[in-house]
Amino acid sequence: VARNPGEVEFHQAVREVFDSLGPVLAKHPHYAEAEVIARLCEPERQIIFRVPWTDDAGRVRINRGFRVEFNSALGPFKGGLRFHPSVYLGVVKFLGFEQIFKNALTGLPIGGGKGGSDFDPKGRSDAEVMRFCQSFMTELYRHIGEYTDVPAGDTGVGGREIGYLFGQYKRITNRYESGVLTGKGLAWGGSQVRTEATGYGVVFFVLEMLAAKGEALDGKRVVVSGSGNVAVHAIEKAQQLGGRVIACSDSSGYVVDDAGIDLELLKDVKGGRRGRIADYARERGSARVVTAGNIWDVPTDVAIPCATQNELNGTDAERLIANGCRVVAEGANMPCTPEAIRALTGAGVGFAPGKAANAGGVATSALEMQQNASRDSWTFDHTERRLSVIMRSIHDTCLTTADEYGRPGDYVVGANIAGFTHVADAMLALGVV
Ligand code: NDP
Repeated sequence: VARNPGEVEFHQAVREVFDSLGPVLAKHPHYAEAEVIARLCEPERQIIFRVPWTDDAGRVRINRGFRVEFNSALGPFKGGLRFHPSVYLGVVKFLGFEQIFKNALTGLPIGGGKGGSDFDPKGRSDAEVMRFCQSFMTELYRHIGEYTDVPAGDTGVGGREIGYLFGQYKRITNRYESGVLTGKGLAWGGSQVRTEATGYGVVFFVLEMLAAKGEALDGKRVVVSGSGNVAVHAIEKAQQLGGRVIACSDSSGYVVDDAGIDLELLKDVKGGRRGRIADYARERGSARVVTAGNIWDVPTDVAIPCATQNELNGTDAERLIANGCRVVAEGANMPCTPEAIRALTGAGVGFAPGKAANAGGVATSALEMQQNASRDSWTFDHTERRLSVIMRSIHDTCLTTADEYGRPGDYVVGANIAGFTHVADAMLALGVV
């Protein structure tokens, strides 16, 4: 805490991982002797830079850009870029730290990193977003590369932004280096299923959690917070697999739709028109919008928070428990507070942390890198099958690790220990670097 003052989200993420590690450090003292913990907490490199750009009125704007290259023991740094006004070093470091363990859990050769800017794309024209992205990449390009650091999207960075970023990288370097960014469009080096992967992956994970309890998704009520990339695709896959998705949200409120969320309308309102969730309710007779409320009040069997960090607190968890919720899986990064996690796990609700449940996005990014490296492109079905196998494998790794350390059914402990040992062993093998 003293070394990283004011970075509260980073402190929270570190505490959450290290709270699980007591048994592994007791069993394997060589990790502590080699100062693996202290090394893991210190990023290999942190880059903070000025991003100057001009808005449509010709006014000069200045934002701050970040890239935290946290750990490359397992492969090139890998993790998304977030454009949101709340971005500062503490948020980037929490996300980068989580990313190390998440990427390790996928079993694929990728290290951990994260970046972004306090730029707010909301309400900006395409031309402004393009100028911002070009300026951002004009500094970032010298730090990234197929073998060094491979950024992707995150909140506020979708296909449009990745396109502008890739265009500027290509222009500056004069290299068509597809493997430098993931989340690209299908026509220019992207992978099938990458857009859908995080949302689909979290639902594949939920299926496994329910199966472990002897239950199925079919007919169950599902509440998904958010209505961005992760949320929309979680809704899509949950519906395809028989779940009844009855509520979703954005930062202005939530909608309850007892007839089930109309996905095409939601995609059109939030994606196509970049509108608000209230617009969905206005156009859908069976839905009502709640602007001064809490989506976790809606009784549900399955809760999938897919919006942002710390969006589900202890009180929300108590309400979910009282309403009979069976499973909570984090689609977003760290959406549940420590109090919420304690309440849920204490009450026997299945709880999957983001580093396990939302790893499908980065796993498919790694599949995109494989396709780029071999100048190949796989079909949707093949890629989705690979995603579902990876999610099942992460699920099983969490459970077997939890069993091994005497905490059966504890996905938090299983994910933290399995991710930690994988990356820590690689760090030790590489020496003091
Ligand atoms: P998007 O920007 O596409 O969507 C974010 C959504 O969350 C928007 O609907 C936004 O609403 C909503 N939101 C933001 N803050 C709040 C809030 N306080 N209350 C309610 N809704 C809110 O981002 P993504 O879907 O890509 O990412 C969502 C989360 O998933 C993040 O935590 C991200 O780190 C994580 N994640 C994303 C991955 C990916 O592949 N994209 C991979 C792994 C994790 P509004 O439209 O009003 O802003």
